[in-house]
Amino acid sequence: MTVTPEIAPSPVNDPGSVEATARRLLTELPGPRSRELEAERRRHVTDAFGITQPVFIDRALNALLVDVDGNHIIDFASGIAVTSVGAANPRVAKRAAAQLERFTHTCFMVTEYSSFVDVCRWLNENTPGDFEKRTALFSTGAEAVENAIKIARSATRRPNVLVFDEAYHGRTQLTMAMTAKENPYRLNFGPFPESVFRAPTAPAHSSPNGPAVALQGVEAILAEHGPETFAAMVIEPIQGEGGFIVHAPGFLAGLREIATCHGIVLVIDEIQAGMGRTGTLFASEHEGIAGDITLTAKALGAGLPLSAATGRAELMNAVHTGGLGGTYAGNPVACEAALAVFEILEEGTLLENAVRVEAAVRARLEPLLTLEGVSDVRGRGAMMAIEFRDNAGPRGDLAVAAAKKANAHGVLTLTCGTNSNVIRLLPPLGIEADVLDEGLAVLEASIRSVLS
Ligand SMILES: *Cc1c(COP(=O)(O)O)cnc(C)c1O
Repeated sequence: MTVTPEIAPSPVNDPGSVEATARRLLTELPGPRSRELEAERRRHVTDAFGITQPVFIDRALNALLVDVDGNHIIDFASGIAVTSVGAANPRVAKRAAAQLERFTHTCFMVTEYSSFVDVCRWLNENTPGDFEKRTALFSTGAEAVENAIKIARSATRRPNVLVFDEAYHGRTQLTMAMTAKENPYRLNFGPFPESVFRAPTAPAHSSPNGPAVALQGVEAILAEHGPETFAAMVIEPIQGEGGFIVHAPGFLAGLREIATCHGIVLVIDEIQAGMGRTGTLFASEHEGIAGDITLTAKALGAGLPLSAATGRAELMNAVHTGGLGGTYAGNPVACEAALAVFEILEEGTLLENAVRVEAAVRARLEPLLTLEGVSDVRGRGAMMAIEFRDNAGPRGDLAVAAAKKANAHGVLTLTCGTNSNVIRLLPPLGIEADVLDEGLAVLEASIRSVLS
């Protein structure tokens, strides 16, 4: 007989204290005030936005979110890998606030400011690739992806784009076409832009000849449409929304070779995995490869909208003057936030801490692999996931039920994967060891309870 483990009750701290720094549940989740606000939301906001946990947040304390009912929620989401330095980082707040007082906007295409240049310099110096680079700043991840395609097409004068199974690149018209999963991202939104073709990948848990087979598949698709018609090949170094899929060793290096061989621009979409998330500044460093263009967003601006395309100078400068831009591209407040993020990553211990997160997650979750229904624990650094699958196939029901349970107990987790059968963990990189541990204990108990 299996015993359903109890989820430890949250410590009841002094309800009036803002200093308390552990999970604290004063009400059920969502609490009464969140429920009132949710009713308002339903009256005024489109239902087309999904919601993981209908709880309204008042403020953040590093890896804790404090809701409007005074509950302290352990944050394993970081706003989808955005607040890697914490959602209330004082250095980010200070630089951004000072900029808000100087000026909020000029439009970099009208008059300039040096923080824009400083962000570009840092990215040129720190993205993988031992070649001269230039950077273009934008506001959202999807915008960075779209602009990488514009640049690649302009530089190569070729139309086609190669993307991969399980890919996620955004919600705009072109990036939707590049994204693999139908529901919710593409459903009813077609027709899509043409010239986007999809190739297979080799996940780390595929067979030993997985990379060779997948690379043959890539070559076959290129051959079918003519390799000389492809401007760009776009891939995430670890696939995020698609299920935290780590590629088998050699697969990305193989793509690098194929791209070089056919003169195709290799675009590495580091929007979710980059900026320290996996314990190195960029996830492609683990594979020893460099994209011709590397994309960053999400954690780059610590929550202020900022994205970047950083690439070979000759590619980035191939576009005609005036061809790239955007009203808010490289907003000065967001640039100040990014400069704070760079300082924090360079001076602090966040990268080492991300490696410690991986060790703690593996120690806690790998023993669950003996349970029927748990099929994989994977990821790198503070980008970890647990997958649910049994002989009958993917078990999205188990992942969703376990995540829901953890959420209800004050540990905010997200699911992902084409079959929603993966729980992903994206805590702030600097999450305290005891907070991480408490969150993992709740998650483990939640998983055990849905499996028993
Ligand atoms: C989130 C994400 C995007 C899109 O970013 P937005 O800012 O939501 O437009 C693109 N690529 C990857 C890998 C992402 O995770």
